[in-house]
Amino acid sequence: MSRYYYIAGNWKMHYTRAQSAELAQTLVNELRDGKHKYLVAPSFTNIETVSAIIEGTNIRLGAQNCAPEEQGAHTGEVSVLQLKDIGVQTIILGHSERRHSYKEDDTLINKKVKLALKHGFEVILCIGELLEEREAGKVEEVCKTQIAGGLEGVTAAELGNVVIAYEPVWAIGTGKTATPQDAEAVHSFVRQTIAQLYGEDAASKIIIQYGGSVKPENAAELMAMENINGALVGGASLKADTFVPIAKFA
Ligand code: PEP
Repeated sequence: MSRYYYIAGNWKMHYTRAQSAELAQTLVNELRDGKHKYLVAPSFTNIETVSAIIEGTNIRLGAQNCAPEEQGAHTGEVSVLQLKDIGVQTIILGHSERRHSYKEDDTLINKKVKLALKHGFEVILCIGELLEEREAGKVEEVCKTQIAGGLEGVTAAELGNVVIAYEPVWAIGTGKTATPQDAEAVHSFVRQTIAQLYGEDAASKIIIQYGGSVKPENAAELMAMENINGALVGGASLKADTFVPIAKFA
């Protein structure tokens, strides 16, 4: 089994360069002996600063988004070429804040996913249902649509560079976490969906992170589930005091 645990911190639109540097340096020191795979995704303006600190360590460098085009007249966007130039290795795509606050749909997300993969990035593709979709019994339908839409045209070889993050929208930044059993049920469904699209071998290898108010108190019980292979952490990734215990869950 080639699965491992992958703990990622999404710093969203927080921190200046100095604050990002301080957090990154603390994480480098504290996670040096960490056993899992790690990533931090600072704001665009802080990526280069953080890159200089984490280069050559066991922490990967992530971005929180990218443009759907390589370059050109796209005011306000950031291109994969620019991200590659500053050392970014992984791009988070389809985050619920992009889907819901900035109206990104599966077609746009898919364009970004394919472009990022074409340029050799690892992609963390976020999926997850709204509370009303859960209450209407549509969790599987929503997740399947987002997976199939996000990965449309992605080859089996490229899938090796894809991580799925299941993030129920009602659990993001709310303090409400899915129970390990509820999360596991969806993770298992995500793996089955990948099996239908890419076969059993690909499904057995893909890393599926859980995201939604992961904290030091609930990390270990979530990670104990068979199909939960890591976490995408928002709020608790902003302080070493909360991110390190998650990253070093026992
Ligand atoms: C996220 O934004 O990806 C996330 C999971 O946030 P939080 O941990 O704050 O719920």
